[in-house]
Amino acid sequence: MAFDFNTFGCMVFGDEEMKSRLPKDIYESLKSSIEENRSIDPKIADVVANAMMHWAIEHGATHYTHWFQPMTNITAGKHDSFLSVEKNGKMALHFSGKELIKGEPDASSFPNGGLRNTFEARGYTAWDCTSPAFVRDGTLYIPTAFCAYTGEALDTKTPLLRSMSVISEQALRFLRLFGNKKATRVSATVGAEQEYFLIDRALYEKRLDLKLCGRTLFGARPSKGQEMEDHYLGRIRLRVAAFMKELDEELWRLGVSAKTKHNEVAPAQHELAPIFDTVNIAGDHNQLTMEMMRIVAKRNGLACLLHEKPFAGVNGSGKHNNWSLSANDGTNLLDPGKNPYENMQFLVMLCAVITAVDRHAALLRMSAAVAGNDERLGGHEAPPAIISIFLGEQLTSVLTEIAKGHSPMCQKMSSLDTGVPTLPAFTRDDSDRNRTSPFAFTGNKFEFRMVGSSASIACANYVLNTIVAESLDEICTRLEKSSDFDTEVQAIIRDTMEQHGRIIFNGNNYTEEWVKTAESLGIVHLRDTIEAASAYIDPKSVEVLSKYHVLTPVECEARYDILLENYAKIVTIEANTMLEMTQRELLPAIIRAAGETAQSASSLSACGIAGARISGLAQRLSECADAVFTAADQLREALTHVHEEQCTYSCAVYARDTIKPLMASLREAVDSAEELVSKDCWPIPNYTDLLHRV
Ligand code: ADP
Ligand code: MG
Repeated sequence: MAFDFNTFGCMVFGDEEMKSRLPKDIYESLKSSIEENRSIDPKIADVVANAMMHWAIEHGATHYTHWFQPMTNITAGKHDSFLSVEKNGKMALHFSGKELIKGEPDASSFPNGGLRNTFEARGYTAWDCTSPAFVRDGTLYIPTAFCAYTGEALDTKTPLLRSMSVISEQALRFLRLFGNKKATRVSATVGAEQEYFLIDRALYEKRLDLKLCGRTLFGARPSKGQEMEDHYLGRIRLRVAAFMKELDEELWRLGVSAKTKHNEVAPAQHELAPIFDTVNIAGDHNQLTMEMMRIVAKRNGLACLLHEKPFAGVNGSGKHNNWSLSANDGTNLLDPGKNPYENMQFLVMLCAVITAVDRHAALLRMSAAVAGNDERLGGHEAPPAIISIFLGEQLTSVLTEIAKGHSPMCQKMSSLDTGVPTLPAFTRDDSDRNRTSPFAFTGNKFEFRMVGSSASIACANYVLNTIVAESLDEICTRLEKSSDFDTEVQAIIRDTMEQHGRIIFNGNNYTEEWVKTAESLGIVHLRDTIEAASAYIDPKSVEVLSKYHVLTPVECEARYDILLENYAKIVTIEANTMLEMTQRELLPAIIRAAGETAQSASSLSACGIAGARISGLAQRLSECADAVFTAADQLREALTHVHEEQCTYSCAVYARDTIKPLMASLREAVDSAEELVSKDCWPIPNYTDLLHRV
């Protein structure tokens, strides 16, 4: 049966619904607030709320929630019903403008980096009318921003919304200088490609590590991983296809424009890419996508893993954050047009990005920092933890030539000859793809590939918006002051290439040489979350974030603390999970295997059969058990000292430098034992089953 595409967005209180349900003047007032990124006029709030409630009830809602994004990388909200008691004691339906605009959740029970105490817990949620409300599972979801009673942001969305105004202001100023009089607003646009793993639910349920930590903490290497390169873009298995179909349909109803789906490189790994949208909507939609992936997987007897590195030895998952700037007259500021070498507006815009990324590489690296991503970044396939920009040879040479004062030659693109006469001829793209770059120019946008698959995309984008706004601000000031526009443009390109050209790297980012070269060029290499977190309190970062009112110094400090605290907590939970699994599941299995093997050896010997290899195996199993005992004891002992650390920083360092190496030793001991124990006796599903069973 044909799919009814008219159901797209049917659960969203979008423009059409507003138009048909609101009086004209109220609709227009709301619409202009949305378009101009302003808060709504409180006078119209009651009417809007009432229309929204009636629409929601028609779509099965009984409750509403202020949906917000605390610093947990997931979303939150409490659900209130539309019921109220009238003066005469009768029940009535009620949803006021005040309830639509403002909520008051307890702020102390979310990560706040010391900004809120339990005795002064008040927090507010405020309606973000630029992202549409929707109905899901009987509740009207109202996208909101979340802040403390004292005004500090306690979520990922508030700084994102702040950064959107900043980038719009500076980008508009920039467009005006290049003669654009039409645009009145510039939005950051984002398409977040989401990678994930799908495994069998029954197997997932048997693994405490997957259930509590989202990744496997043990597991011997399977005989087949991803070496055959046969999974990427391969045929989608029927069970996975059924999951994807249901997911697409759920997302479409919620107005999420899921576009592309395919198998990824690792076995059991897949990807979903949406059509890009304004960044705050893209962020909300990415959160919804992750939630729906987990739910739809469960309904289909599957488990969706969004962790950055669920399995050792095969690729991890990221979120490719495609970012661009789009004006409301249709101009994409990163579109090179037909002749990039003549398109000064585009080339100067590139300079703004190059400057921003080089100057604030640490901050950008930080924006992708989370414990799970430490397992992935710098690994076999992932972008390394060093920031660089891929521009492609052609654009790099255009900038280099202009910087030298030469006029760049028009390079006509060659057509591609496949050698097969029946195939259509087409022109080659301006640049080849570089899959190894953490920050690649891909035609009309930049693709920031470091972001972790489980993370909110907000931080990466408020950092990008802010640092690019800063360089645009500088560029605009230069251009406004100069008496000769063209000469100044050339000077900007020259200065950018001189001062920041080092960040451009078109080669293979995965090589050891690049790590060395980058270090010799002074490009920051922040290896892990703890090193990266320091960018939050680095004076240069605090200055740019506070200058543009995206985060205050106090908010930066709080976020630094949250990042480190979160890191230490994750490592501690993982270590405790390993100990629990070892003591109650894995060690008993190894001991049993050793005992049973020894028993077999002695039964054989009682019959006069030598069985030396069998008693040898029993011996090895017993040695394995000893090694596991020792490693577990060391880890347990180390964990008892975590709380002796004085501050969040030292706790995190202790987790990284003391706990993690002991976790690695325990894993090694257990994984060697797994290779010796019969599959029937191993109490948890192995890598082969997890990766190849769906
Ligand atoms: P890839 O080859 O990297 O997988 P895709 O074309 O599949 O690339 O995905 C690219 C992503 O970039 C999509 O989510 C797409 O919507 C997004 N994208 C395209 N143009 C823009 C833009 N101007 N701004 C932001 N994102 C964009
Ligand atoms: Mg991509």
